[in-house]
Amino acid sequence: MSEDIDRIIQKSYEACALAGVKLTDKRKNVLVVLLGSSTPLSAYEIVERYKTQFGEMLPVMSVYRMLDFLIQEKLVHKLETASQYMSCAHIACDHQHETPQFLICDQCGSVKEIGIKKHIMAELERSIQSTGFTLAHQQLELHGVCKHCQDSSV
Ligand SMILES: [Zn+2]
Ligand SMILES: [Zn+2]
Ligand SMILES: [Zn+2]
Repeated sequence: MSEDIDRIIQKSYEACALAGVKLTDKRKNVLVVLLGSSTPLSAYEIVERYKTQFGEMLPVMSVYRMLDFLIQEKLVHKLETASQYMSCAHIACDHQHETPQFLICDQCGSVKEIGIKKHIMAELERSIQSTGFTLAHQQLELHGVCKHCQDSSV
């Protein structure tokens, strides 16, 4: 495990202890799988990588349950439109977690998590609701081309 992942896992244990919940070995391993990936993964991809990394084949249903736990504890985010999962970019941060939004690169598949101020989100919701539309997810997933891909295409 890289030092970075080590540190993030340590922080995750602390966050779970603080919340009074248990980061079991398997939950922790699922998080390690996500931390080791540069792109978000589907539950099935997590099963595959888990098997490679930890030599154990997990039923996909239990992976879903572990992901639910990790999402609940804000250690993992789900990209709703793609049904993929990624580790939170701010686990080891001390600042407050803002409403996460995602910038998805259509070329390399990397996803950047950015925070949006709560009042901007509230404003957005208000203007959506004023049309009579009911919002299912409050999460923005924006597609485009990341800085890295732009730089390497010149
Ligand atoms: Zn996050
Ligand atoms: Zn942060
Ligand atoms: Zn890219």
